[in-house]
Amino acid sequence: MTSNIHTIIIGGGLTGLVTAYYLKKAGINFRIIEKNAVTGGVIQTREEQGFTYESGPTTGVLSHPEAAELFDELAGSVELEPARPEAKRRLVWKAGQWHALPAGPLQGITTPLFTFKDKLRLLGEPFRAKGTNPNETLANLVRRRLGESFLDYAIDPFISGIYAGDPERLIPRHALPKLYNLEQTYGSFIGGAIKKAKAPKSDRDKKATREVFSTRGGLGKLITALTNAVGQENILLNCQGTTIRPDDNNFKIAFNQNNQQVKLVAKHIVTTSGAYTLKELLPFLHDEDISPVTNLRYAGVVQCAVGFSKWPGAPLNAFGGLVPTCENRKSLGILYPSSFLTNRAPENAALLSVFLGGTRNPEVVEAPEEELRRIIKQEVTEMMNLKSFNPDLIRIFRYRYAIPQYESNTDERLKAIDAIEEKYPGLIIGGNLKDGIGMADRIRQAVALSGRIMGIHP
Ligand SMILES: Cc1cc2nc3c(=O)[nH]c(=O)nc-3n(C[C@H](O)[C@H](O)[C@H](O)COP(=O)(O)OP(=O)(O)OC[C@H]3O[C@@H](n4cnc5c(N)ncnc54)[C@H](O)[C@@H]3O)c2cc1C
Repeated sequence: MTSNIHTIIIGGGLTGLVTAYYLKKAGINFRIIEKNAVTGGVIQTREEQGFTYESGPTTGVLSHPEAAELFDELAGSVELEPARPEAKRRLVWKAGQWHALPAGPLQGITTPLFTFKDKLRLLGEPFRAKGTNPNETLANLVRRRLGESFLDYAIDPFISGIYAGDPERLIPRHALPKLYNLEQTYGSFIGGAIKKAKAPKSDRDKKATREVFSTRGGLGKLITALTNAVGQENILLNCQGTTIRPDDNNFKIAFNQNNQQVKLVAKHIVTTSGAYTLKELLPFLHDEDISPVTNLRYAGVVQCAVGFSKWPGAPLNAFGGLVPTCENRKSLGILYPSSFLTNRAPENAALLSVFLGGTRNPEVVEAPEEELRRIIKQEVTEMMNLKSFNPDLIRIFRYRYAIPQYESNTDERLKAIDAIEEKYPGLIIGGNLKDGIGMADRIRQAVALSGRIMGIHP
């Protein structure tokens, strides 16, 4: 029984590693407890046959200064790789072909993605009354301000790309707070975006460039850099059946590691694992206290890396394409990583990343391998306009709990987390069940979590 541990972090994904990184910097004694054999959680980069592909996220957005600051801190051990600007076009599938999302007013007028009526209606957006229902769904907010075709062919595919979710159920106040605040603060998306762009920014806020990033050699390099900085000796891998119980002013942690029962005592616990892990992890909590947290719905996602040593299709000079729900296809989207990142595929080769499932096709995550291969073949052949489908690499990764959905039960979940943390001082429930799902959100939350442990921030 080791009892001089200040903080135990459950989970060695991005949130856990970044929390640990800042605790280490502050000289605080901690351990990460990870059930898998490797760190990184859903972030894993693989190299095979000259392809460098991700089985989880491919890119993040520098949407918070904390993310840029972390990369500054890690300079020398990991290099930020911005997505190539020449390949920034986002495509949307409509009526059997890809169309570029408008990048300017002229394209906005000519694009076939939106109806003429909605394009005209857009002129009135700055003058439309602001919403008063804080629990309005994203779909209703967009219908009200922009119109049905913008919901179908801009917001819905965008939401598939981020949440693999359903705009009819996501609550923008939680799921897209920046968009929600544009309307609430400025009364308009368009007017608000213009005013925000013109508003003076602090030097720190300027670091949130909104640039799309990966890291040179894949996001796995970020995980390696963090793991090394945190120190392998502070990370316990292969920990199964972990349970935590309060004991006096401490917490007792028990788990099985490599067939050995291990018991630890710590002052603080930070959980960064998914909501679905918490009942087993915190068995002392009453069902009525933890259920509002664990009833969080997740979208399942199947991600497939598809590599062609000789690309047989048209040039891939775009970021990739997303598929609106109303188009009734099996895929959520196809990204072109070898087009917007360097050295992800050999010369003349192409690497695609195909997403299936989401809340619109949840059954796909459980489908047999042959069925998934059949779907991938059909989607890539038809949507990339190929004569035949002979890839040199297909790798399929399934995530039953890929992306938490910030829906109408979010307030209840956040209240329940606050109540548990208040009742058990020293226990902090983090992870992507709150505070955002993107990588930059995870980094920002981790900075806040470590700050709470250090007692700097509330
Ligand atoms: C397929 C996919 C694609 C994505 N694409 C993007 C993208 O393009 N851009 C973007 O910004 N974000 C993307 N995301 C979201 C982003 O990757 C995640 O929000 C983020 O990486 C989550 O980090 P985390 O540390 O909070 O959780 P995780 O990575 O899930 O890490 C949690 C860790 O806890 C461990 N754990 C779980 N239970 C226990 C237990 N009982 N005991 C010990 N350890 C435990 C797990 O093994 C895991 O290592 C994507 C996610 C997925 C799944």
